[in-house]
Amino acid sequence: MGRKLLFLGPPGAGKGTQAQQIAKLLGIPHISTGDMLRQAVADETELGMQAKAIMEAGDLVPDEIVTALVIERLSQPDAACGYLLDGYPRNAAQADTLAGTYGDDVIDTAVAVDVESEELVRRILQRAQEQGRADDTEDVIRNRLSVYREETEPLIEYYRVRDRVADVDGVGTIDEVFGRIVSALV
Ligand code: AMP
Repeated sequence: MGRKLLFLGPPGAGKGTQAQQIAKLLGIPHISTGDMLRQAVADETELGMQAKAIMEAGDLVPDEIVTALVIERLSQPDAACGYLLDGYPRNAAQADTLAGTYGDDVIDTAVAVDVESEELVRRILQRAQEQGRADDTEDVIRNRLSVYREETEPLIEYYRVRDRVADVDGVGTIDEVFGRIVSALV
């Protein structure tokens, strides 16, 4: 049986990049609700239309919407032997729904990549400047961070009491952080 991983970390911690590479290394699907939602927005589906403004503000899309996406995705054959969840669950209600639907073993390890707030804002603003991303204004970034601290960060405790957390220091080069995650997973 493959791994059932969850990646947790604040926006700007490099979580998405790491998640993609780890999933590739382990040969499991990388399931990112952010990617799925961005695709829906790009395709202008009904779901995408509902999610667009919420995502632009850095708020969370309603639980029912993302949960339906994830349950559908986990039913695909490639997820039968493990997966890496990136961006879901993102609050306690989603974590409860996930465990209620599939049982506590739905996640074997929650990888918590940590970077402190001021460093994150600096990184995200720099990226926004380099890529000309007007959507990443400082207000939106700060809102994303506060949503993370209030809604998502408590999940680290949720999984810690279940003895499933691997803490990883997210400060360093992509390769350094990648190495730390790999070491934490063996
Ligand atoms: P991400 O790429 O994971 O940072 O996700 C981008 C945006 O998609 C977030 O800021 C949320 O608006 C939305 N989103 C992604 N995953 C979830 C989730 N599990 N619950 C609610 N909203 C989500």
